[in-house]
Amino acid sequence: MQSVLTVDSLAKRFPVRGKGFVNAVNGVSFDIAPGETLGLVGESGCGKSTVGKMIMKLHEPSDGAIMVHGKNIAGLSRKLMKPVRRQVQTIFQDPYGSLNPRMTAGAIVGEPLKIHGLASGRELTKKVAETFEKVGLRPDQMTRFAHEFSGGQRQRLSIARALIVEPEVIVADEPVSALDVSIQASVINLLISLQKEMGLSLLFISHDMSVVEHISHRVAVMYLGRIVEIGPRKTLFASPQHPYTQALLSAVPVADPSARKRERIVLKGDVPSPVNPPSGCHFHTRCPIAEDICRQKVPPLKRVASGQKVACHLREGVEAGKIGAA
Ligand code: SF4
Ligand code: MG
Repeated sequence: MQSVLTVDSLAKRFPVRGKGFVNAVNGVSFDIAPGETLGLVGESGCGKSTVGKMIMKLHEPSDGAIMVHGKNIAGLSRKLMKPVRRQVQTIFQDPYGSLNPRMTAGAIVGEPLKIHGLASGRELTKKVAETFEKVGLRPDQMTRFAHEFSGGQRQRLSIARALIVEPEVIVADEPVSALDVSIQASVINLLISLQKEMGLSLLFISHDMSVVEHISHRVAVMYLGRIVEIGPRKTLFASPQHPYTQALLSAVPVADPSARKRERIVLKGDVPSPVNPPSGCHFHTRCPIAEDICRQKVPPLKRVASGQKVACHLREGVEAGKIGAA
């Protein structure tokens, strides 16, 4: 099946005064099929949000391609971008800051229909009311202002605003991390059911492995601007192959400890600065099993026996470039 969204060798360099560049994103590739959720995880500063921002056209890539249905949107002008922008919608982290306080909830949710010239007048109002119901809000709440809603309800408004133009892809960057834990599950479950109903493709960016495990079909793990492991969620969680993924997962509490026997792996040190990242495998300064080759050579992504792709010199596999995307 053709992918809805393909990211190919994407890179973003930010200039740093007097220090050259930060390679925030460096050679990131993945694709997302219709109706699929890809979870993009990693610690803060790993570049996952920068990937999202490039897809949303908030940053231009320094290199690489972003394809929506095979059409490269990197470098597209605003005008040519408009129809693509409808196909790719965003849900932001902060449900407090991302909604205009001077507009009613109905006007906020209906605005994208106006911008894209898709509806007006009664038809628009009807569409807004239907979308309110879709996300679990009442149409009579359309006349309220954002501050009259709770955090969870505001995130439902953001979801409604993204869905109303019937997009094919949604990029959600930490969409629940500003919410109370008690509310997170209901918003995640809403996203899952809407996604099934509408056949949406979702790029779900998060630092939270438990949330990512709950929502994703496939997962990509980033470290210092690169994908270090990518593959089906079940495989990646049951048998993580990259030492970094293993460390991240070892810190996730499990409800039934016998289901996933895992010793806690505590990594030494902090994530190094992306201005001067370690040579070779960026992870070698913290990796419990690093060898000499790790300091010298960048490990390519290889497909390993369990099915996922892993960038580690000490894992046996076939170089992934030759056998297509995971
Ligand atoms: Fe560790 Fe070396 Fe593998 Fe990098 S390539 S994860 S340093 S063993
Ligand atoms: Mg971020």
